[in-house]
Amino acid sequence: MSAWETVIGLEIHAQLATKSKIFSGASTAFGAEPNTQACAVDLGLPGVLPVLNRAAVEMALRFGVAIDAEVAPRSVFARKNYFYPDLPKGYQISQYELPIVGRGHVFITTADGNRKEIGITRAHLEEDAGKSIHDQFPEQTAIDLNRAGTPLLEIVSEPDMRSADEAVAYARQIHSLVRYLEICDGNMQEGSFRCDANVSIRRRGETRLGTRTELKNINSFRFLERAINFEIERQIDVLEAGGEIVQETRLYDADRDETRSMRSKEEANDYRYFPDPDLLPVAVTADDLARVRAALPELPEAKRQRYIDQLGLSEYNADVLTANRDTAVYFEAALDAVPGEATQLANWVLGDLAGALNRDGLEIVAAPVAPAALAQLVARIADGTLSGKLAKEVFEACWQGEGVPDDIIAARGLQQITDSGAIEALIDDVIAVNPAQVEQFRAGKDKVLGFFVGQVMKQSQGKANPAQVNEILRRKLKSG
Ligand code: ADP
Ligand code: MG
Repeated sequence: MSAWETVIGLEIHAQLATKSKIFSGASTAFGAEPNTQACAVDLGLPGVLPVLNRAAVEMALRFGVAIDAEVAPRSVFARKNYFYPDLPKGYQISQYELPIVGRGHVFITTADGNRKEIGITRAHLEEDAGKSIHDQFPEQTAIDLNRAGTPLLEIVSEPDMRSADEAVAYARQIHSLVRYLEICDGNMQEGSFRCDANVSIRRRGETRLGTRTELKNINSFRFLERAINFEIERQIDVLEAGGEIVQETRLYDADRDETRSMRSKEEANDYRYFPDPDLLPVAVTADDLARVRAALPELPEAKRQRYIDQLGLSEYNADVLTANRDTAVYFEAALDAVPGEATQLANWVLGDLAGALNRDGLEIVAAPVAPAALAQLVARIADGTLSGKLAKEVFEACWQGEGVPDDIIAARGLQQITDSGAIEALIDDVIAVNPAQVEQFRAGKDKVLGFFVGQVMKQSQGKANPAQVNEILRRKLKSG
C-alpha cells in the first residue's frame, strides 16, 4: 500500500438536450455552419433581455430528484464576469450562491465489487460560451459562437473519490444517469459531456486535504483515468523530492499522455459575481417536484436492484446491463418474449452479442440481431432445439443477415436431435463397430465413455443432445 492517499472531486458539465438555448430561441443543434445559430441575445447586443428556457429548468429538476438532492425552492442566476474573445457579453450567466440543485448523492461499484456512496455538492444551471478554434487558419484564431448560450448543468462532486478507478466509475454513473433521464446525449467527442478532475494527495492517515490541481481538456473516460494517474504520480514525485504542489489548472495532453500547467491560482480571475438583474429568481414548488418525480423513468440504481432481486441476475450482470440505458432497453425488449430466461438471456447479451458488437464496432441500437431474434434463439436453447454450440452458429448466421433463428434452423437443418429413438439407433451402430472399447468399458475403464460420446456426436454431426447421449450410452454399455 502506498504511503499516499489520493483525493479526487469532479466537476462535470452536461449539455442539456433542449432544442433551443437557455436564454434565447436560437437552435442548439450540433454541427451547423459557424456563427449561424447565435442570436442577438446570445451575442449580448444592447437592448436585449434573456428569457429562461423552461425545458432547461425541468431537466435540472429531473436530475435533482434522481440524485435525492435538496432542490432549492428559490435559486438565482448570477453574472460571472470575465473577458474572453468567445464570450461576447463579457460575462457568463451562471448560478453561484443559490444553485437550483443542492446536496445529493449517487452510488458506484468500486474495483473490489463494493458499493460506495459519492456525495454531490451541487448542480447549477449556466450557459456555455462560444468556441475558439486555433487550428483552422495559420496565425489566426477563429471564433464560432453557435455554442454560446447552450444550456449546461454543472455537477460538482464532493472530494469523495480515492482513485482514478473510482473517479471513472463515478463519471460513468453520472453519464449513465443523464442518459436515462434523457437530459443529455452524453456525447463526449462533441463536448456534450465534459469532466474536469480536481486531484490532490495526502499522507495516509492525514485528515486535512492536500493542495489540489484541476485537470481540464479530458474528452473520454480512458483519458480521465490516464490524466488522473499521471497527475498522482507527478504530485508524489514533487512532494517526495521536498517540493510543494501549486494550486493550478493543468491541461491534459492525450498525445503525450501528460498534464501541463495552464494557469496558476495567482492568475485566476476574480469573477465579481453578482445576481443578474435581467432574470427573475427560479421558484420551484413541492408540486413541481412531485410532478417531476412521478414522471421519472426507472433509474439505473433501481433497475439494477430489480434485476438482482426479481430476475435473479448476478450483481455483475445487473451492473453491466443497467450501466448503459440502450443495453437495458435491448435486454428488456428481448426478455418480454422469454420472461423465464433472464439469466440465459443476460449471458447472451453480455457474451456473444457484446463480443460481436465490439468486433464490428457497432452500438447496441444498431445490432443486426434484434431483441426478438435473440429471444427466439434463447427460446430454442431452452426447449432443447439447439445445443449451445449450434446456437452460436445460428447467432452468427442471424448476425450476417440470414434471417431469424427459426428460419436459419430450418434452412440449415440444425435441429438438435432429442428423439431418444434416433439417438439409440446411432448408439447401437457405434457400439456394434467398436467391440474392443465395449470390453474395456465393462472391464472398468470408465474413460472410454468419452470415446463413445465423441463417436456418437460425430455420427450425428454434432446435433445429438449430449446429455441424452451420455445417459443412454451408460445404460446400454452397462446392460450389454
Ligand atoms: P472552486 O470554487 O475553486 O471550483 P470548489 O470548492 O467548488 O472549488 O471545488 C471544486 C471541486 O474540487 C469539487 O468537486 C471538490 O470536491 C473538489 N476539491 C476541492 N478541494 C479538493 C482537494 N483538496 N482535493 C481534491 N479535490 C478537491
Ligand atoms: Mg468550480
